[in-house]
Amino acid sequence: MENRWSDADAREYVARYGERHGHDVALRVYTSRLIGADPALVLHGGGNTSVKTEARDELGAPVHVLCVKGSGWDLGDLEPAGLPALRLAPLQELRALDVLSDEAMVNALRTRMLDASGPNPSVETLLHAFLPHRFIDHSHADAILSVVDQPESVSLCRELYGERFAIVPYVMPGFALAKLAAQLYERSPTIHGLLLLQHGLFTFGDSAEESYVRHVQAVDLAEQFAKKQRYWSARTSVPPPAPIGYAELAPVLRGCLGEGRRRYVLHHRTNPVIQEFVDDAALGSLSQVGPATPDHVIRTKRLPLVLDLKAEHRGHLLEGYLEEQLDSYRKDYRAYVQRQVQRKTATITPLDPDPRVVLIPGIGVIGVGATEGAARIAADLYEHTIQVIRDANAIGRYQALGEDDLFDMEYWSLEQAKLGKKSGKPLEGHVVYVSGAASGIGAAIAVRFAAAGANLYLVDRSAEPLAALAGQLDCAYRVIDVGDEAKVRASIDEVLEIHGGLDGVISNAGTAPQGPIDSVSTADFEASMRVNLYAHQWLASAASRAMKRQGLGGYLLFNASKAAFNPGAGFGPYAIPKAALIALMKQYALEGGEHGIRSNAINADRVRTGLLDERQVAERARARGLDTDAYYRANLLQREVSPEDVAEAFLTLALAQSTTGSVLTVDGGNIAASPR
Ligand code: ZN
Repeated sequence: MENRWSDADAREYVARYGERHGHDVALRVYTSRLIGADPALVLHGGGNTSVKTEARDELGAPVHVLCVKGSGWDLGDLEPAGLPALRLAPLQELRALDVLSDEAMVNALRTRMLDASGPNPSVETLLHAFLPHRFIDHSHADAILSVVDQPESVSLCRELYGERFAIVPYVMPGFALAKLAAQLYERSPTIHGLLLLQHGLFTFGDSAEESYVRHVQAVDLAEQFAKKQRYWSARTSVPPPAPIGYAELAPVLRGCLGEGRRRYVLHHRTNPVIQEFVDDAALGSLSQVGPATPDHVIRTKRLPLVLDLKAEHRGHLLEGYLEEQLDSYRKDYRAYVQRQVQRKTATITPLDPDPRVVLIPGIGVIGVGATEGAARIAADLYEHTIQVIRDANAIGRYQALGEDDLFDMEYWSLEQAKLGKKSGKPLEGHVVYVSGAASGIGAAIAVRFAAAGANLYLVDRSAEPLAALAGQLDCAYRVIDVGDEAKVRASIDEVLEIHGGLDGVISNAGTAPQGPIDSVSTADFEASMRVNLYAHQWLASAASRAMKRQGLGGYLLFNASKAAFNPGAGFGPYAIPKAALIALMKQYALEGGEHGIRSNAINADRVRTGLLDERQVAERARARGLDTDAYYRANLLQREVSPEDVAEAFLTLALAQSTTGSVLTVDGGNIAASPR
């Protein structure tokens, strides 16, 4: 592990933050980010840091404060606002108490804050407060965990660190751990930090640099030690790939995971280290020990699910095999909760019994989450857990906390709070594919569905605007022309690969060619049929088959046109495939109904998009004796229809559980074009 402290960077942080927030806070932000930038040290909100410094109260009087990482902030992109300041003296007074419940502790922390609107200070704040050092750094570094997650961890720590670090037996974070840490420090006041068994590392110092450098050195020592012990079992043969590919497996697995109305997003990951781990003949025992540090338990659950796919599970037997494995996992989870509830004689609300990490030889790690982000976090945490397990087993034997301590962590109210409230968004957990997404109605649909909580996959042929929108919405995308059947079908496989399944398709891409019907060339007519009809069929057919394998129903939503019911002269090459598109939509409603797959269409009209160019619009307006603005408002409601109105209608259809085979008009009212 490299020491990445740089005097020049430190000066830059002081220049950026020093004047407003003080020299100490500026440097606290700097080294917090150094730690946060390294995934071998902390991941996803893990770890915390603090500085004791001087601030001013409302009256301008100086006050000693502890600035400590607030919950909801990641060390990697910490700002001064993520380091709420608490009055130090009244915090330290709490040490006189014998006990302090978690709820009372949270209240005590908040009442000592200088800014009442700041984030909740870390649950480890009192540990920072009871130690006297100006700078304190805490991480769950992989290398440290491989040393402290051992039956012989105490002697191992002594051998590696001598008397420079105090060894703290496992105690759940909170008041009791803070008191214990302070006592151990007072017994040996020259130590550089604390090694928390089965938890992580604290270092401290008088300056930001000192505490940071001690941290990096301690981690480096463990890394070098593990490296020396590490055996890389040279593979004598490469195991065969899984008999079932991930894209084939994922929707079926996702369907089995989504018991009741729950829907999960899957995140698949593999690399040579993961692959070697999941292919290990001992995977069944290696993986069933427990998490590397207790706060992973809320994101990964205590144990991953291991699947052993065989060639005979292919096809219709796959679902049965997965159901059986999941049933057994859920049964074990419920039994564990039951045992713990009896032990604690407590009433708790059980969490769902589904796994958050699935391991499959030949395939890798699959993270499972209610959102794409949660699934990715579970995979990230497990990827690092693999590293810890391997190194710990190279050093000695990997040993996790027992289930009692892990249960206390998993059901600890302060940990549950980290997961946040359910978003309440109607499409949370849904995976939605949008074609023609780069501009106009498609872009409005993407924005609206993202706001509703959907995990998106966007497609368009215009690379730059598509990449820009996907960047803005932080979602997956693929540049393709929907007129290319192979690419359309491959894009559905890619959605399954990226998100693990598919709930909805908004088949929106289209073109608007014109020309008299008796003289349109076959080539032009075919080109329009390709994009305005066949492309919808290719997309819907691939999606429908994936949805059937998944077994969670779904929705196919088509952007048709008023031209389907109310064609215009000279618009034949456009109106004819659109009329056929309505028939296509009905056919999918007819054949998809028994599978819960709904199929519906939107007929929008006169929406300002790039479909018709300005000149064409002006011509059409002139033909009706109107200016362009009046043309857009020429409907029963006399209001212009926006792309957002159309997007809202698509969302309505996505949510309309009892509607299929239907056409919804979004045209401001046009009796001549109303469905009949
Ligand atoms: Zn911790």
